[in-house]
Amino acid sequence: MTQTNTLEQLDFAQNNLEKHSVNIHKFGGSSLATPECLERVVSIICRHCQLNDIIVVSANGKTTDLLLSLQQLALSGEPLDTSLALLSEQQTALIYALLNAENAGRLAGEFEQDLNRLVAWLAEDPAVFESDILALGEIWSARLLSALLNERICASYYLDARDFLVIDNPRDCRVDNPVSKANLQNCRRGQKLAVITGFICKDHAGNSCTLGRNGSDYSATIFASLLSAKNVTLWTDVDGIYSADPRVVPSARKLHRLPNAVARELGRLGNPVLHKKTLQPLTGSIGGAASHLHVASSFDVQAAATEIGEFGQIARQELSVTHLNDLLLVTCEALQGDVLADIVAEFSPVYSDQKSGQLVILASQQKALTDALAVLGAQLTVTPVSLIAAVGYQVALRLDIYGRFKRALKNDRVLRFFNSEEQHSIIALLPQETTPELLNKVHHEIVKDARHIGLVVAGLGNIGQRFLELLPGQLSRIPALENVHLVGLVSSKKALIQPDGLEVNSALADFSAQATDYTNGELLDWLKHHPYDEMILVDITPSEAFSRLYGEFFDLGIHVIGANKWAASAGTDIYHELKNKAGKSGSLWLGNTTVGAGLPVNYALDDLLGSGDQITEISGVFSGTLSWLFEHYDAQKPFSVLLKEALAQGITEPDPREDLSGRDVQRKLLILARAAGFELSLEDINCQNLVPESLQELGTEAFLQQAAGLDAYFLQQYQQANEKNACIRYIARFSSQQGKVKAGVSLELLAVEHAFANLTPCDNIFQIKSHWYQDNPLIIRGPGAGRDVTAGGLHSDLVTACRQLVNKQHQVTLKGIN
Ligand code: ASP
Ligand code: MG
Repeated sequence: MTQTNTLEQLDFAQNNLEKHSVNIHKFGGSSLATPECLERVVSIICRHCQLNDIIVVSANGKTTDLLLSLQQLALSGEPLDTSLALLSEQQTALIYALLNAENAGRLAGEFEQDLNRLVAWLAEDPAVFESDILALGEIWSARLLSALLNERICASYYLDARDFLVIDNPRDCRVDNPVSKANLQNCRRGQKLAVITGFICKDHAGNSCTLGRNGSDYSATIFASLLSAKNVTLWTDVDGIYSADPRVVPSARKLHRLPNAVARELGRLGNPVLHKKTLQPLTGSIGGAASHLHVASSFDVQAAATEIGEFGQIARQELSVTHLNDLLLVTCEALQGDVLADIVAEFSPVYSDQKSGQLVILASQQKALTDALAVLGAQLTVTPVSLIAAVGYQVALRLDIYGRFKRALKNDRVLRFFNSEEQHSIIALLPQETTPELLNKVHHEIVKDARHIGLVVAGLGNIGQRFLELLPGQLSRIPALENVHLVGLVSSKKALIQPDGLEVNSALADFSAQATDYTNGELLDWLKHHPYDEMILVDITPSEAFSRLYGEFFDLGIHVIGANKWAASAGTDIYHELKNKAGKSGSLWLGNTTVGAGLPVNYALDDLLGSGDQITEISGVFSGTLSWLFEHYDAQKPFSVLLKEALAQGITEPDPREDLSGRDVQRKLLILARAAGFELSLEDINCQNLVPESLQELGTEAFLQQAAGLDAYFLQQYQQANEKNACIRYIARFSSQQGKVKAGVSLELLAVEHAFANLTPCDNIFQIKSHWYQDNPLIIRGPGAGRDVTAGGLHSDLVTACRQLVNKQHQVTLKGIN
């Protein structure tokens, strides 16, 4: 996730230890539970780590629970045999399933010795040796993974964190940074990948300590701070942080980027993935920029992770809902002044109030708090409570959210509402448990279904510029575009990408000033990790090369709005492959402007087909240029003179033979036939090239000089038509009768009153016959080119896409949380 290099390539990294920043990868218990899990971990390490990175591990599966239960059994004098046997069976099964015979034998021997030590501690004093006992889980896990890495990918060693990590005080687990940092430097070995135990450490006297249950995440961020690591990835069994616990709220959505302050607040208020202490070391990182934290799934490496760090405005808009049951509201007269300050420092209650002498603590803290207050002879009353909170950057200052939060709770008893000190949460204290129903209701009201959509625009020519000029107005006016953010502009050579969103009003100017060279590989790489729920790419380029990237866009689940005709009129195999890819990943592919600019002809066909109608014929004038030429041509002046006038007015392509070749019309007919549900390729469409062979091979200049060579043919055609009271037009025709498909584009003779013969010059006309429109066809007619109508057509596609995306449900796969 943070690195894409493989270990084999990266021996050099060790030689440049100083130059390469360190990344920390932490694997949780469930990611290390079975041989299959460990195989996955090895492949993740192989793909994402460098030699000087640090791997941090929890105990395998539920080993810590088992060790703890052994300790409890020993304390109460109960028999240990069954649990010891289970422990032994689990560890040896892992060792023998993964390692070669020699290594397995060695590790099994070491495990036997540990087991003897464990039995001795349990017999001697299970309370005193608690941390030594629990530490075994992480030791076994680190030893096994390191041996496995040694066998499979590179030299590796494991490190017992008690050899370097020193805490000042086991109660709040504050790290002695200078001492630990110096120790760690001494412990690290060159040319080998380190696997370090999470969860465990020592005090100044050298006694084993733990960082509290689930403390390995905290270990990972401590190491990040000691080593000024750039990234910490927590590989776990969920693929990120959600807007509510997705096991309880199925409509919860993934938060792609979470500001540090908000993540801290979520951890404090009960998010099951972010533990309270985990984020502490990151913000005050020793020297340099703070590390970014990634929460990723080791079970689904492809899934986008959540990144926690410092971000701009868009990430700050994210909202989520969290809750905590099993809380106690404590009232005690002694909770004033210094006493309160001390208690707050020690217990970090979620709420404290000097005036009323009240605190809210976890039920599990009750005994310790009672003991602490008993010294003062104080009486306390305790009531069970729960809390539900809306969390987001400075959310307490947003009156609309406050209103929605209160409205969602209006039928529930609430003891009080309060804000966190930094204003990143609004909290309601409830005298009853927070139920799943309530959580869903509040989530629905607060988070709505806001899905953030990123927008990249490729092609900044005439139409692209107009599209961007219209964008700010559209974004502010159209509800479906509420969460659309322009994040990138791309021309054929340069790109400007800003994950936090470009300023839409000055995007083009900013592009001119700041865009930098890019390669397609870099663009794809960025799109692979973009931090949005959905990403739409608007392709307004005329580039065939760019259209070849569509397959990769679709593989990444990116939606494409294309004005670009190449992909939609590509060879049958390529076209079907693209359609399949888009279908597989749920990508939308809209291209209303590939034919007839903004005219809704693609939509009309799509709609008829989708409603069960069958198309039998499509015909008309599909080229604005050819429409203009033949509406004006009256044989008064030679055709070539008219052609040069059109060229001068920008009505033709710079080389008018591109229009006269009919190829563009042929492609458009193919696109429409496909939209009407027919399987066709370009070769199936006869195409009359209006340029005689003798003029086809010339350069543009030479062609223009010899353009009079066109005149005789058109004069003759015109006169022939005239004699029959007819006229000439360049017509596209597709028909399907009794399974027989005919398609072609050519110059035709039409009666002067024919619908195709009476267009405003430049207009297109599309005539559709179907089972429902048989005798009296459906006709769509209007400008088939132009800045405003084409840019408008693209905006129409954008709104259509966003309407669909906003309603899309997110699939959440969960395996429990660890
Ligand atoms: N193994 C320890 C526990 O289960 C630490 C951890 O998993 O983070 O609590
Ligand atoms: Mg754990």
